[in-house]
Amino acid sequence: MRQIAFGRPYIKRAEKVAVMKALGNEMLVHGPLSKQFELDFANFTQAPHAVSVSSCTAALHLSYFCLGIGPGDEVLVPAQTHVATVHAVEFCGARPIFMDAEIHTGNIDLDQVEDQITSRTKAISIVHFLGMPVNMKKLMQLARKYHLTVVEDCALAIGTYFDEVHAGLHGDVGCFSFYPVKHFTTAEGGMVITKHPWLAEKIKRAKAFGLDRQVGERKVAGMYDVKSLGYNYRLNELQSALGIAQLKRVPHFLKKRKQNYEILDGKLNLDEIEKFCSTEPPYQSSYYCFSVLLKKKWIPKRFAILEYLKEKGIGTSVYYPKPVPLMSYYKKKYEGRAKDFPVATRISESSISFPVGPHLNSKDMNTIARVFKESFTKV
Ligand SMILES: *Cc1c(COP(=O)(O)O)cnc(C)c1O
Repeated sequence: MRQIAFGRPYIKRAEKVAVMKALGNEMLVHGPLSKQFELDFANFTQAPHAVSVSSCTAALHLSYFCLGIGPGDEVLVPAQTHVATVHAVEFCGARPIFMDAEIHTGNIDLDQVEDQITSRTKAISIVHFLGMPVNMKKLMQLARKYHLTVVEDCALAIGTYFDEVHAGLHGDVGCFSFYPVKHFTTAEGGMVITKHPWLAEKIKRAKAFGLDRQVGERKVAGMYDVKSLGYNYRLNELQSALGIAQLKRVPHFLKKRKQNYEILDGKLNLDEIEKFCSTEPPYQSSYYCFSVLLKKKWIPKRFAILEYLKEKGIGTSVYYPKPVPLMSYYKKKYEGRAKDFPVATRISESSISFPVGPHLNSKDMNTIARVFKESFTKV
C-alpha cells in the first residue's frame, strides 16, 4: 500500500552534493554560504534585509528582543497558532494577550483588536494560518492608529502574498521556518526579513552573542567588544548549503502544492464538513495543507476518522491541537478559558489537515478524497 506521508523532506542529489561540498570548506559557521542564502532569500521575497537564524523560534525571540519588548509590555497574539509564536513573547518577560480566530480563515480576528488595546500594548503578532495571509491592510491601519509594532510569524508562509507583497514585509519583521515539514528545509533553520536596516543590524549582533565585530569584520583576529546582550542563534554553513539548493525548488514546490490543493478543494464538497475560504486576490496562500472542519455532529468521531485514514496509509495532522491559551502552561499562568476563544476552540476540536506537498501527486489526492468520503460510512 502506498503511504501518503503528511510531510516529507524533498532532498535530491543537488542537496546532497551541496552539503558534502560545504563540509569540505574551511568555515563551517559564519562563512559565505549563509550570506549567499540570505541574499537568495531576500531575492525570493524581495525583502530589503534578510538574516539567517537557527529556527523560526529563534527568529521570533530575536525580533521581540531587538524591538525592545520586555517586562510590563503586552503583545497581542493569536490563540490559534503554534506555541512558538507565544513562547517568544514569554522569553522576553512580556505578557501575551490572546485573541480569538475568525472562522473563515483561522486567522486572528482583527475586529476584536481594539477591545484589547491598553496603554501597555506594544506590539501585535500574527500568524498567516496554514499559509493564508492575514488581511494586512486592515492590520496595518490598526497598527498605525495605535502605534503598534507588527511581528509576522511566517513559518508556513513562504509563497504567501497579500496585495502582491510577500508575507513578512507588511509589518516590521517576518519570521520563517525551515523545519523539515515546512515548505522547504535546512533540517532546522529560520530567517528574519525586515525593511528596517537598524533592526536587521541589531538582529545580526544579537544572534551571535552581541559581539560588536563578527568573524571576518575584525582587524585583529579574536578581538571584539560586547555592547549588548546576545544569544547563539546562527545558521551554519551545512544548513545554508542545503537551504540554497532547496530554495531553487520552491517555485516548483508552490506550483505542486497549489495543484494538489485545488484537486482536494474540488473533490471535497461534503455535507459532513466545512472548508476554509479559498484564496482570491489580494490574498495568495502558500497552500501549506488542506484543512477542513468537521460539522458539530461528527466531532466525537474525529479520532475514529483519523484512525481510519491512518489504516489506509494516509498521513494527516491537526492544526492546532488546542488554542495556545488552553495549553497547560498558559492555562495555568493566565487562566485561559475555552469560552473566551470559541472560534479557536472550534477549529482545534474539529480540524483535520491533509497533505498537499510536492512529494504527492494527483493520484494521491484522489485517494485522499475517496478514503475520506468513505470514512464517514465506516466510523
Ligand atoms: C513550525 C512553526 C514555528 C516554529 O518553527 P521552528 O523553526 O521549528 O522554530 C513557529 N510558528 C509556526 C506557525 C510554525 O508552524
